[in-house]
Amino acid sequence: MVLVNQAIAEFRRVLTDKYVQVDAASLEPYGWCTIPLERSISAVLLPESVEQIVEIVQIANSHQVSLYPISTGRNWGYGSALPVRNDNVIVDLGRMNRIIEVHSDLAYAVVEPGVTQGQLYAYLREKKISLSLNPTGAGPNCSILGNALERGFGIGPNGDHFQAQCGMEVVLADGEVLRTGFGHYAGAKATYLYKWGLGPYLDGIFTQSNFGIVTKIGVWLMPTPEAFEVCYITCNSEHQLGPLIEGVRKLIASNTFQGPMNLLHRKRALIMLDRYPWDAMANQTPLDETLVADLASQKKIGMWNGVGAICGSTSQVRAAKQTIRKILRDKADRITFLSDRKLQILRRFPRASGLLLKMNMSEVLKALEGSFGMLKGIPSQMALPLAYWRNRANPSLESEINPAKDRCGLMWFAPVIPMTLEDVSAFRNIIDPIFREYRFEVCITLTAINGRCFDATIPLLYDRTEPEEVRRAQACYDTLVRACRLHGYIPYRLGIQSMLEETTTQDVFWRVVQKLKSALDPNGILAPGRYAP
Ligand code: ADP
Repeated sequence: MVLVNQAIAEFRRVLTDKYVQVDAASLEPYGWCTIPLERSISAVLLPESVEQIVEIVQIANSHQVSLYPISTGRNWGYGSALPVRNDNVIVDLGRMNRIIEVHSDLAYAVVEPGVTQGQLYAYLREKKISLSLNPTGAGPNCSILGNALERGFGIGPNGDHFQAQCGMEVVLADGEVLRTGFGHYAGAKATYLYKWGLGPYLDGIFTQSNFGIVTKIGVWLMPTPEAFEVCYITCNSEHQLGPLIEGVRKLIASNTFQGPMNLLHRKRALIMLDRYPWDAMANQTPLDETLVADLASQKKIGMWNGVGAICGSTSQVRAAKQTIRKILRDKADRITFLSDRKLQILRRFPRASGLLLKMNMSEVLKALEGSFGMLKGIPSQMALPLAYWRNRANPSLESEINPAKDRCGLMWFAPVIPMTLEDVSAFRNIIDPIFREYRFEVCITLTAINGRCFDATIPLLYDRTEPEEVRRAQACYDTLVRACRLHGYIPYRLGIQSMLEETTTQDVFWRVVQKLKSALDPNGILAPGRYAP
């Protein structure tokens, strides 16, 4: 404690009192989390430059204080801003929010940690730069860099955020500043254009790790295409899943879809549009399958619902639509394409289109505009309300939706599954009985992140205000992770509650990670426990 106090006095010298926060009211928001964990946080530091971060790590080393860097702390369902261990000093990089450069011809941006999806989107619009980003569902206020470090993905073109990252600047635990790729050569011309640089490729070790504080990255953006449409696919029966998977594999192999393709199970689509019907269920859980079928049919949700972007020149998009129709014709019940023009017509004539399509058009339009916009690169909050599914309180859903502040219960479980019906079925046969036993809904999306595997993102949604339900949710989560690992389905990313168990096994891989950690951060001052000791 004495050491922390001494360190805090020195942090104040570097940052001034204003940017070293220790009072309970300032620390409170950093403790909000949708995972049922609490941490004591020693202080929050708000640096504004690389030079200040270098001094911070030097002070932390000399006083053995643990630092926990965050960019915007909106890592919903994986830990938000919460450190893995107690008594860390959070280094909130939100003030470092400069867009250093945007190159409109070579289609990249260089950003600091605090640059948000919404900020970059607004910048591109304001400067009339014809480039698009690919936002995640975490909302306009979350960091681009933070998500790339977690190897997250968006649903539109250019979707894999680590794939789209090129060139990094990192403050190491000893205070040295490392530039990866070509960035360490004075005057290098292709730092943000060529990922691999020369020699060992180092960027990867700063993602999903605790080896450095990343202060800048290059991000590849997409030149806005001449034509853009979103394809919606509806299959009404479980029997269509096999042929649908086969079709998706072919469509990705042929480059027909330009980004990930998402297959949403009907319960997943439902939780994005509704809240748990506590009254209709007489407070019982989990949701009754007959009620699921009723609600899905009212909202015209299929058993499996595909969505993906197609873009390119007008003739390429026309050809892509033909290919999709040809490949999926006998596999899907409905294939719909939405363009800006069609959306405008629906907006202009909602009543007529509602009657024609037999749908509640205001609801349909809200959902379509959200998903269409996100796929087109417009950051949106449309995916956040799912966190409120079992939240009994009626939160205000303020202008910025903050599921952690509203005490929503959400833990993401995201294993990677080979893109075959056999594997998807085997995986579902493992998880379905576990969800049933613990009385939660299986709300699965299969994201075809490439042509070979799905990232299955499954939100475990629970009521955080009910201690018994919280205990059940934790047990359910642990059981899921262990059962799936046993059968070879490993998550692509972890929540802070799983890191200790997953990363301390004594296999060669994690031993090498431990050796790297000891070499780069011998005092263990950076984010202890985050994917490494
Ligand atoms: P987002 O708000 O975009 O989801 P976060 O700021 O929550 O991103 O980042 C997710 C996680 O990644 C953080 O909890 C932290 O462990 C790690 N992280 C974020 N930014 C940095 C950074 N600049 N350097 C090192 N690690 C970081």
